[in-house]
Amino acid sequence: MPDHPIHQHHDLSRTAPSLATLEQREEVVYYCLETVKAQLNFNTQGNISLRLRRGGDEGGDAMLITPSGTRYDRLRPEHLFVVSLETGEVLESPRNGTMPSTETPVHVEHYRRRPDVGAIVHTESTHVNAFGILGEGIDPVLLNMILYARGRVPCMPFEFSTQADFGRRSAELMGEDVNAVIWANHGLLAVHVDLPCAYRVACAVEENAKVLLASRALGGTPRVLDLAAIDIPEGAPLP
Ligand SMILES: [Zn+2]
Repeated sequence: MPDHPIHQHHDLSRTAPSLATLEQREEVVYYCLETVKAQLNFNTQGNISLRLRRGGDEGGDAMLITPSGTRYDRLRPEHLFVVSLETGEVLESPRNGTMPSTETPVHVEHYRRRPDVGAIVHTESTHVNAFGILGEGIDPVLLNMILYARGRVPCMPFEFSTQADFGRRSAELMGEDVNAVIWANHGLLAVHVDLPCAYRVACAVEENAKVLLASRALGGTPRVLDLAAIDIPEGAPLP
């Protein structure tokens, strides 16, 4: 029988076993490409991570995260890093001379603060940044925004974003009830229980920002949505 690995193009079985499955790695790569397609990122902007849940006796949770300076069209599942959320140290490297995302310490702090968060998507989309450069938060005016981001997205004053204490302040400002935070003059950090949902948060905030800006040209006062005031029927499917 010929010796064909199933995933010939990115066979990880030749290296030490990974804490992340090939499926998890492929999911991160897929959503990196989606952020470019949806014009949430261009060039090497942004980064994505995925929580890898492990017991305390296994060393606690870790995360899978994109490398720094990623060219997404060349990103492959084996190029991702695994970083401990307990210690912040790199547990697995791709051995191609790259470094994990410069915002790795910031992702670590967000996961530590919110045990419910299973994935983080950082984007630098245009309309979110239009609010961010004014230091303004974004009110929820669209259904998707209120369902996925869950409320007004606050804006954190500008500062360099690669340090753990920036991450702690960012996580604190986002708090427990909202799923995104704007970094002034930089971009957005979106979280949710899994990667498809965290990606939807990033999309929803950008679309909401775009519509909110368009409505300003019309004048009038946009109706802001409040999650607590929306009557969602039990078991209703979300959009
Ligand atoms: Zn960035």
